[in-house]
Parts: sequence; structure tokens; C-alpha cells
Amino acid sequence: MTWRRGREEGFGTTDSSGAGSPDVRANLAEVRERIARAARKAGRTPESIRLVAVAKGVPVGLVREAVQAGITDLGENRVQEGVAKREALAEGPTPLRWHLIGHLQTNKAGRAAANFDLIHSVDSLRVAAALSAAAGRLREGPDPAGARRATVEVLLQVNLAGEETKFGVDPDAAAGLLRVVAGLPGLGVRGLMTIAPFSADPEESRPVFRKLLALARELAGLRLAGVSLDLLSMGMSQDYEVAVAEGANLVRVGTAIFGPRGG
Ligand SMILES: *Cc1c(COP(=O)(O)O)cnc(C)c1O
Repeated sequence: MTWRRGREEGFGTTDSSGAGSPDVRANLAEVRERIARAARKAGRTPESIRLVAVAKGVPVGLVREAVQAGITDLGENRVQEGVAKREALAEGPTPLRWHLIGHLQTNKAGRAAANFDLIHSVDSLRVAAALSAAAGRLREGPDPAGARRATVEVLLQVNLAGEETKFGVDPDAAAGLLRVVAGLPGLGVRGLMTIAPFSADPEESRPVFRKLLALARELAGLRLAGVSLDLLSMGMSQDYEVAVAEGANLVRVGTAIFGPRGG
């Protein structure tokens, strides 16, 4: 990770730690290079992997730098924070895709459906049903942008880490959930997402990522109408290269681009 002194306009003024601001452009170049290398090593094209820059807790100025450096996909944990950033960055020349990667509370399903292009964190019928209802309201509403979003695209979040993470459907229950969710109007299931247990050793994530790919193949075998399982969202700053080696086509990277949060 590369750091620079905060001498550029707008930097350094709010940073009393003296650590400077992260060099987002240089960090991005490094992450992209590593993704490309991991992809080629696995016999994949770098273009087949979409880098989602995770912007939670990151000031909008730094997020804008990432966009100026070519980022088109942004990830947020919280609906409110994502909507605020989406509005702040809406005037840019390239359309951005917003990804909701954190747990969704059902009372925020409406805002989530209206503001995010892909929701990675569907892990229960309750959440799926709330999004389906929200999609219905968007379809009938007056807002043309809403109508365009009348199909809410989602991933099923699978918990392959056991006790360590609270969220995600149990892998044994994934097929059952998928069958029910596939029948809900206004939802398009596009793939699976998982969060590997935290470890200092990225190799420890490999079996988890393998399991997600295997589960996606198994579920694709069900051939459910309206379901495509071609997106695999796995890998974070710690382990995105391993994820690419194991078939990820969406990697969610925050710290390696923006530096440590809240520090
Ligand atoms: C925060 C977060 C990330 C990014 O984590 P980093 O370690 O900062 O790259 C990815 N996915 C989810 C679900 C997150 O909450």
C-alpha cells in the first residue's frame, strides 16, 4: 500500500495524525496489477473480474479519486451511507454501479432497491420478500429511474465460515432458499457471495472460495427459471488474489485502495 503526504488540495487539512492520505491512484494500480496477474495465472482474462471499491467509512473526496482513476463499481455496507455518496457522485461523466455488500434490514429494502444496482447480501426469505415488494412499488411508482430498476438484482450470501460470521444462509439451506426466492416477482438472482473468516493467511480462504464455486455449480444444476448464477462475489483486501484464482468475478476491496478505515 502506498501513502503520500497530504499536500494536494483538500488533503492534509483534516488529518491531524500526520499519516497523510492514501495514494488512491497508486493503490488502485497495484490492486489492478495483482488481479491481472492472479487472473492470467489461473488462465482467466483480467477483464472477467470486476473490482468493487468498498467505500464504507471513506470520505467522498477519496471515493471521487477512485472514480477519477477509473473505478465504476462501488460497494457500501449501509444503505444510508451509500445513498449519500451516490448522490454526491451522481454528476460525474461515467455512470457508477453501486453494490450493497452489508446486511440489509427489511425496513431499508425500499431505499436499497431504488439505489443499488446489485445487492450482495440476501440471506433470508424475509429480506428477499422485502426486496420483491420494494421492486413492485418501484414498478408502479412514477419515477422512471425506479421503473428501470423494477428487477432488483441480488446475490445470495452464503455463510461458509460457520460461527465466525453472523450473516449468510447455511450452505445446506441455500438450495431451499433459492427455490423460494426464484419464485418471487421483481428479483433476479445473479450469483453467490461469501465472506471468508478473517485470517492473516490468505490461503485459509481458499477452501471457502472453492466451496462457494462448487455450490454455485450445484445450484446452477437446478436450472431454476429467472436465476443465473454467473456472479461470484468473494475476496477482500486480504485474499482477493486467492479469490481470483478460485473463480471470483466480483472482488470487494476497501483497505488496499483507501487505506485503513477510521485511522
Ligand atoms: C468491509 C468489507 C469489505 C472490504 O474489506 P477490506 O478488508 O477493507 O478490503 C468487503 N466485503 C464486505 C462484506 C465488507 O463488509
